[in-house]
Amino acid sequence: MRLVMLGAPGSGKGTQAERLSKKYGIPQISTGELFRSLRKGEQLPGMSLPQEVIDEISSLINNGCFVSDDITIQVIENRIALPDCENGFILDGFPRNIPQGEALDALLKKHSIHLDAVLEIDVPDDAIVDRLSGRRYCPACGRTYHLDAKMPTEEERATCPEGCRNLIQRDDDKPEVVKKRLVTYHDVTEHLKPYYKEQGKLITVVGRKKLEKTIRDVDRALESIEKNRIEA
Ligand SMILES: [Zn+2]
Repeated sequence: MRLVMLGAPGSGKGTQAERLSKKYGIPQISTGELFRSLRKGEQLPGMSLPQEVIDEISSLINNGCFVSDDITIQVIENRIALPDCENGFILDGFPRNIPQGEALDALLKKHSIHLDAVLEIDVPDDAIVDRLSGRRYCPACGRTYHLDAKMPTEEERATCPEGCRNLIQRDDDKPEVVKKRLVTYHDVTEHLKPYYKEQGKLITVVGRKKLEKTIRDVDRALESIEKNRIEA
């Protein structure tokens, strides 16, 4: 199964990507995570990125700058060549604009790889702002919680150096910042929807308040993709 996840920040696409990665036994490839891992300037296990590319990413990330599409696609190419991608992968956070989408298509074509689907998790903006503004983070253990949905359990408190006592809100989760990110999503990334729709690859699932419902809808949508794959 080769998938691209699409969805606004806070839509829950990362949660679904993580779950699908386990379900199908294929890696979840997040460019953000790859870049963060490369910030120390060291090669990642199994990968063979040129040192100058690693150095450039490291310096961009450490200075809070964006990594260019050119370099990003090189990292993706390197990553999907690893043996764990043989049965598929889930791209999370890439592509985020049309040029990246086109670059990805060219890359897949070059390696004769077929993309099965682009799975969009669609959540209304006001629901996203609500959801993210309740998110809290424990700086001591790095866990993320939610005021309404997921407060620390006894077990989590017991394994945290500070007992998860001082939960803070990330700047990224503050309503004014979330709204700005949503504008960027609608102005830039959302153009990928018609792009993939035209290719017949877009599947949209409405992200619901109840996670189980979203999970059920995602699984149903992907089961039909898998069925088609086997028949083809
Ligand atoms: Zn904690």
